[in-house]
Amino acid sequence: MAEERWVSEVNAGWGLTVKVRRQLCDIQTPFQHLEIFETVNLGRLLMLDGIVQLTSFDEFAYHEMMADLPFYACARVPERALVIGGGDGGVLRELGRHPELKSLEICEIDEAVIASSREFLPETACGFDDPRVKIHVGDGSAFIKAHPGTYDLIIVDSTDPGGPGEPLFGEPFYRDMKNALRPGGVIATQAESYYLLPEIAARVVGFAGRIFKSSGFAQINVPTYPTGIIGCCVASDGTDVREPARIPDPELRKVLRYYTPEIHRGAFELPGFARRLFGEAPEK
Ligand code: SAM
Repeated sequence: MAEERWVSEVNAGWGLTVKVRRQLCDIQTPFQHLEIFETVNLGRLLMLDGIVQLTSFDEFAYHEMMADLPFYACARVPERALVIGGGDGGVLRELGRHPELKSLEICEIDEAVIASSREFLPETACGFDDPRVKIHVGDGSAFIKAHPGTYDLIIVDSTDPGGPGEPLFGEPFYRDMKNALRPGGVIATQAESYYLLPEIAARVVGFAGRIFKSSGFAQINVPTYPTGIIGCCVASDGTDVREPARIPDPELRKVLRYYTPEIHRGAFELPGFARRLFGEAPEK
């Protein structure tokens, strides 16, 4: 019998452990340690610097919400989208379901993530096959400065601060994103878990609240992220981001597994302690 192996993400003093069958990829890129595993129960698993980025089992939850919260919050029909990070292709795959989008750009710092995802994670990397996709390889914080007034949607699907994602968690980057939006445009950023990394979640929500007219932290259930939830910070100078401006058509609703208009509204409803963390009154 093959020897079983367990891999763990250890983050902020505790961990999440997954039983794996074999390792498919183990490389040190110029930016990070990239590993892909075939797990026993959860399909494929992508880790960067020992942190779980996705599993086949539950990546739909994160990717649908990161793409569709901003897509449906945008009052006018979005035409131009930019993904920063997101080298596994999952957010692109979800954006690709919307024929209204005329261009889908991605700025990923590490081309090895794109190449390895194409080789070992075809179910997310199929997002790159869309003919509207244009790939830029580089730091998203520098890229955004060079594109004022360009995008209806900017989605930041980044790694945690500490590695190459560090500048994506600073206030200047949030101001640069605002400048890169077209009128009424919407941003959505990976905003961590209020249980695991509350200071980072609160920091990001604080920037968004100071810089944009409407903002909020939406929680997403993703069992293979430690604590089982992750946040998406959504913000805009257009209409209220907590309320879908449009809804998926009936055919798309059959395809989506997580996003619904009801989940859109409900994701912003937070437990009292999290409301206090983000400076909101615990009772409305
Ligand atoms: N869903 C994942 C999560 O929250 O754990 C994130 C997945 S995605 C693979 C994260 C990507 O962000 C990585 O491929 C990484 O290379 C990219 N990234 C990190 N810093 C970046 C930066 N400054 N500019 C562009 N991409 C960056």
